[in-house]
Amino acid sequence: MPAELVVSQPVGTVKDAEGAFLLDILIDQGRVAGLFPGGTAPDTAPRVALEGRHLWPAFIDMHTHLDCGHAIPRVRPDGTIHGGFSLTAVDWLRWTDDDLDLRMNFGMACAYAHGVAALRSHVDSETLAYSQHHWSALDRMRAKWAGKVDLQGVTICAMEAWVGDDARALADLAAERGGILGGVTDTLERGENGTYDALAHALDRLFALAKERGLDVDLHVDQTEDLSAFTIPEIARARLRSGFQGRVVLGHCVNLSLMPPEVIDSTLSLAREADLAFVSMPTPMMYLMDRKPGRTPRWRGVTAAKEIRASGLPLAIGGDNCRDAWFAYGDHDMLDTLKQAIRVFQADEPLTGSLAMASRTPADLIGRPDLGRIGVGLPAHMVIFAARSLNVVLSRDQADRIVLHHGRRVTDPLPLHHELEAALGLSETKP
Ligand SMILES: [Zn+2]
Repeated sequence: MPAELVVSQPVGTVKDAEGAFLLDILIDQGRVAGLFPGGTAPDTAPRVALEGRHLWPAFIDMHTHLDCGHAIPRVRPDGTIHGGFSLTAVDWLRWTDDDLDLRMNFGMACAYAHGVAALRSHVDSETLAYSQHHWSALDRMRAKWAGKVDLQGVTICAMEAWVGDDARALADLAAERGGILGGVTDTLERGENGTYDALAHALDRLFALAKERGLDVDLHVDQTEDLSAFTIPEIARARLRSGFQGRVVLGHCVNLSLMPPEVIDSTLSLAREADLAFVSMPTPMMYLMDRKPGRTPRWRGVTAAKEIRASGLPLAIGGDNCRDAWFAYGDHDMLDTLKQAIRVFQADEPLTGSLAMASRTPADLIGRPDLGRIGVGLPAHMVIFAARSLNVVLSRDQADRIVLHHGRRVTDPLPLHHELEAALGLSETKP
């Protein structure tokens, strides 16, 4: 087990060159009942010899859009942000209860089979009527998957929604459904004097509504290469003004990596003061950002991951969009997301701390410190790889991984795309 994914290193274990150690793990009643140096567990329970295979805690995917997902081939993304907006707006008209249930369930089933124990999904909440419809679908999914994958919702809407007439009702809706509050911060333009007065006002309202209801906040921030749309400092100042005590997570923040070093430094020191956390979605950002016709991208499209981590701020990763108008591919596999993150951030040499981006860190950020790590007393949600070294876990696709949920093997297969297409009435598009 990689040491960084184990709560505390048992006495008598020695880390290998990759920072992992060999342990015996005792599972009782679906929980970890003991951890012992390899080969030293008491001989009182039936044993399964894993022969040095890597064993990790189940993954956490804290940034998804289940309601948009798995709309291909009826949606044909063009790889741009503009296309993502406009094609989603058209697809919305097809989001009946049945349609949402089929597509969201497909996403949940993929995640579960790949070893994801908890998932946060942004719920399209542009108008109150749409929101009620989408949040009801999320509620049905939460009930259906209870005991398998924990599902948490967060509003996604333009920040204007938080100063509109329905702001209070939208916040109540999210609270009733066990969700939290969010929004897209770069939808509000700067004023004539170059200041973000309208955004500051909307953030103040959002933090006040979240504070009243005891909800966390998770925002979509600066998913743009436009350096003038830079809202992290505004969010930090609003949080400091608000006295809001909950967790504030900023997703994307991609143009931060294009800023001069002194701007990155000052922004991150303000973010530290405001106790902000970050989540990056490396795979769809590589696909979407810096896409220009007939030209190879010059920019990797992700946030300033190394600088964020070096400044001591939490950085998680998420899967984001999956087979929809925003991102054409994906399978809700957080191991794949982790591999992409390690490569695109160059988050290796050393790898120390990087594995936690897909499990331990997001578990903390969604308020589930019992997940995303191996520890005595915690649920035995785990993934076992055939690989005997960390290098091999990250080299081969691990399609044969074994997922344990409460200590029992998950035997549910991955759902099949052609069956989803048939259920959605899309099969006639095939010859
Ligand atoms: Zn997103």
